[in-house]
Amino acid sequence: MIIVLKPGAAKTQVDHIVEKIEKLGLKPWVSEGVERTIIGVIGEEDVVRTLPLEGFPGVEKVLTILKPYKLASLDYQKTPSEITVGKGVIVGGKRLVVMAGPCSIETGQMLLDIARTVKKSGALMLRGGAFKPRTSPYSFQGLGEEGLKYLAEARDKTGLLVVTELMDIRELDTVLKYADVIQIGARNMQNFDLLKEVGKTKKPVLLKRGIACTIKEFLMSAEYILSEGNFNVILCERGIRTFETFTRFTLDINAVPALKSLTHLPVIVDPSHGTGRWGMVNAISRAAIAAGADGLMIEVHPSPEDAFSDGDQSLLPEKFAQLMKDAAKVAKAVGRTM
Ligand code: PEP
Ligand code: MN
Repeated sequence: MIIVLKPGAAKTQVDHIVEKIEKLGLKPWVSEGVERTIIGVIGEEDVVRTLPLEGFPGVEKVLTILKPYKLASLDYQKTPSEITVGKGVIVGGKRLVVMAGPCSIETGQMLLDIARTVKKSGALMLRGGAFKPRTSPYSFQGLGEEGLKYLAEARDKTGLLVVTELMDIRELDTVLKYADVIQIGARNMQNFDLLKEVGKTKKPVLLKRGIACTIKEFLMSAEYILSEGNFNVILCERGIRTFETFTRFTLDINAVPALKSLTHLPVIVDPSHGTGRWGMVNAISRAAIAAGADGLMIEVHPSPEDAFSDGDQSLLPEKFAQLMKDAAKVAKAVGRTM
């Protein structure tokens, strides 16, 4: 349920309503907009209805949200969310945010070299996995905390902010120590306990879409994080499983405008995993921007054939530089900057 207050409603009136809702054992979420404040109430509709909310001072109207995701919905917040990462990168603003780097962190030197080259091309964030979700237990599993240290070192030396995947609740404190954005991967998108734990932090979360998850399920997962109090959620379309085998996954470009019509959360696209083919990454990056994406996540490697993981979809640094130039033209055409 959403309680819409009159423009200029006093803080004491807001506090009074919040207090009444809390007394019922429910959780109120106050969103202070430019024009008016709204209060979201999550819980049993029947319980909330026991309060004569329409009659409370300062209340303009009371609306019922029928969608199962509430805090993530545009009913709760009409203006797009801008997620601030570190001290100055904003995801969801006019400027597109590109996160680039290797699939896995391999060595400190390699990561630093890639960080320097992607920064030169215009990336604002460095990606790299230290905890890797691999299909085979015999494949490289990542460097763990050692990799996170390399990531932090690359941030210190280049100024790039860093995003890295968290796979297990037991590693939360370790990842929190080094990361600017916590990535929840496709395979963990419905690990609800993990979602709740990152929801209890204030750290921005990059939530990737599960390979067999609908848009509604994707938003329900975001809702898990929001409902714990962390509104710093960035959604990432990274391809879903279909009958097609030419590409590794089928990048659901529809998801970008679909999500934009349903949620205020920013949406970025990962064309590397979405295609599994480096030769398609440039075209799909441009398509994503044209469709309204707020950013891109791209895998880059100095020698893809030697990569510990995902070499087939990793771009050489010079290909990444070209992508950034090509993508900037599309960004300009749709009123965005890079
Ligand atoms: C990744 O970004 O390294 C990754 C494993 O992605 P996904 O979870 O989308 O497969
Ligand atoms: Mn990868």
